[in-house]
Amino acid sequence: MPGASEQVDVVVLGGGPGGYVAALCAAQRGARVILVEKQRVGGTCLNIGCIPTKALTAVAELLVYCRRASDFGLSVTEASVDLPALMKYKQTTVDQLVGGVEHLLRARRVNVVHGEARLARPGVLSVLDGDTSSEIHATHIVLAPGSVTADFPIEGRDLPGVITSTEALSLETVPGRLLVVGGGVIGLEFACIYEALGSQVTVLEMTSALLPGATDEPIAKRLQSILRRRGMTIQTDITVHKISRSGGALKVHAGESFFEADKVLIATGRWPNTSSIGLAELGLQMSGRAIAVDDRMATNLQNVWAIGDAVGGWMLAHKAMVEGRVVAENVTGGNRHVDYRSVPNVIFTRPEIASVGLTEAQARANGFNSKVSQFMFSANPRARILGETDGVVLLICEAGSGRILGVHLLGPHATDLIAEGALAVQLGATADDLAWTTHAHPTLPEAVLEAALDFRDAAIHMSSR
Ligand code: FAD
Repeated sequence: MPGASEQVDVVVLGGGPGGYVAALCAAQRGARVILVEKQRVGGTCLNIGCIPTKALTAVAELLVYCRRASDFGLSVTEASVDLPALMKYKQTTVDQLVGGVEHLLRARRVNVVHGEARLARPGVLSVLDGDTSSEIHATHIVLAPGSVTADFPIEGRDLPGVITSTEALSLETVPGRLLVVGGGVIGLEFACIYEALGSQVTVLEMTSALLPGATDEPIAKRLQSILRRRGMTIQTDITVHKISRSGGALKVHAGESFFEADKVLIATGRWPNTSSIGLAELGLQMSGRAIAVDDRMATNLQNVWAIGDAVGGWMLAHKAMVEGRVVAENVTGGNRHVDYRSVPNVIFTRPEIASVGLTEAQARANGFNSKVSQFMFSANPRARILGETDGVVLLICEAGSGRILGVHLLGPHATDLIAEGALAVQLGATADDLAWTTHAHPTLPEAVLEAALDFRDAAIHMSSR
């Protein structure tokens, strides 16, 4: 059934953190904006990604603390998991935040249209909602369709009990044995959540190390040994090719070995969601599965822009958000570029990992004569108070000038601490700039300060390397 056709300044396809931020910011700058979303606003991040996983992570951490209560002189009789109640807490958090975004969109007068959109031609989106179709005409179109779970062929991946990250957010019981296929960010975050909740966890990764490409190699290696020490089974250089049922259990065939599990989580990454929005027919330039854009987020078609997971690179909500802010300026008369150097990568494992800028190997490959300085969290007073002493701060600096090229953290609240590293990389700060910035005591950021002092072999609370 054909519906009405509308003309606005900007139409955004997809209401995830890329799309809704682009819509809000464009409206803030005076544009008339329509946002088309086929499910709930908030996208992967709010509904099935960042927010629900971090709600579970936060509770898992509390549980670990409760179990260690006696280390702190507390007596907790029994800390046990009520999974349905925990999932309810997670869902309430998600619903509150989605409600908050809906409220903001209303308040900024962004018209949210429900339906599945396709790019009909530059300037026109077609939208299908049930059997009602309509057209939206806009001066600018912003594509923000996000990503979908990568669909690598593994025989048996449709068996009951073989799940993706989305189902792992709604389990009704804690699996006795959880096998995670893929030692990347999403796989390891769930491994840490369910390990804390009581599962015996096995992680199988096909490359030679965990977190391939996501952080500096020494950090990934340290995490691997911490997780093994805690009792996780981790195997690298192993490829899962088949899953079958064997009695009540799932049997995972990898190389010459096999593993048994009650649930198998497939966490082999995500792909840009670009196959169903009408791009191929229109000559939109692609880069593999991703939409090709310049650093202003412009595609090769006039006034068609793209942002977020759909353009590839780091698939992270804050990267999608900054691209959304940049595109909002560019469709309202501005001229802004995304500075990817200061986009941090964050991994909510236990302990957490966060990285920004170049790794040591990347610095070398880019021709820098670099120096690595470091500080261990075991020597940081706040980390000791919290009982979270595993971890390290690595600073990659240009040897002569001390310019900070990269910051890599493994340790408590690493995902918060990286903000200082991102600012340092963004501003081109040096190790001396950080070292002469007074950091409050006793706090975790003092570990970053000490790593900066170590650039001149002058760390105060470390006797020797
Ligand atoms: P999305 O959030 O995927 O949103 C795209 C939206 O477009 C969706 O709502 C979809 O319904 C809609 N859409 C798609 N096609 C159409 C169409 N044809 N018509 C209308 N609407 C359409 N990132 C972090 O930074 N930190 C984290 O802690 C983190 N944790 C994660 C945990 C998990 C389990 C997962 C899966 C991801 C996580 N991410 C995290 C990644 C983060 O969720 C994504 O990078 C982010 O959501 C990308 O935003 P986006 O706007 O590009 O796309």
